[in-house]
Amino acid sequence: MPPGASSLGQGSGAVQAPALNLVMLGPPGAGKGTQAERVARERRVPRISTGDILRAAVVEDTEVGRAVRVNLDAGQLVSDEIVIAIVKARLSNQQAGRGFVLDGFPRTAVQAIALDRMMSGRDPLTIVNLVVPEDELMRRLMLRRVCSRCGVSAGSTAAGVCSRCGGELVRRSDDAGSVIRERLRVHASRTQPIVDHYRPRLTYRQVMGDQSPDRVAADLRAAVESVVESAGAARDLT
Ligand code: AMP
Repeated sequence: MPPGASSLGQGSGAVQAPALNLVMLGPPGAGKGTQAERVARERRVPRISTGDILRAAVVEDTEVGRAVRVNLDAGQLVSDEIVIAIVKARLSNQQAGRGFVLDGFPRTAVQAIALDRMMSGRDPLTIVNLVVPEDELMRRLMLRRVCSRCGVSAGSTAAGVCSRCGGELVRRSDDAGSVIRERLRVHASRTQPIVDHYRPRLTYRQVMGDQSPDRVAADLRAAVESVVESAGAARDLT
């Protein structure tokens, strides 16, 4: 079977568990990165964060990095063409054949449609939307610190150094007040509408993100399990 090919309806032999092809939706500051990392680690699948990939390109001063730097600094979206090419390349990687967690993609209707095309012949997407009230998002983003060495988000209560690698904790350059407001505005106008693209699907779930990280992780796990169970039930009926 090619990487990521659907295990459903393969006719003969044992039925393989479907790959977890998870999309994490939610505004900046909802906790997508933290939760995506946890679930990717638990499920042993790659986490694909377009924000991390773009920030690394800026630091490495690649051609893509030079093209996107102004968008990142201003809190605006990078062109669909660039991010779609990045995700396409990552999904064709053998590792993503056993599933993946997408964090920060899709962010526009064009990206959502492109992702649906990329999923042709693969197990269906599971979509989890992390919901957090706007005043809480603003508070978290103003306080958020990330590790300058390994890039992990240390959340808003961390002090000084990274608990994972000992690196210095710093503020992300796009977590400045005016840029945060722009990122939330862009999210509301360009990304929030794609929830309507996914909401009718049987594999769409909503999780409240304004709880402790452990509580959110437990709800996320339950949401993913319920999708797996309903897919199994649907398969048993066919
Ligand atoms: P994030 O780390 O997901 O908050 O993303 C940081 C920044 O990277 C965003 O503010 C955008 O400038 C850019 N970016 C990340 N993902 C995308 C995407 N799917 N489409 C367009 N721009 C993106």
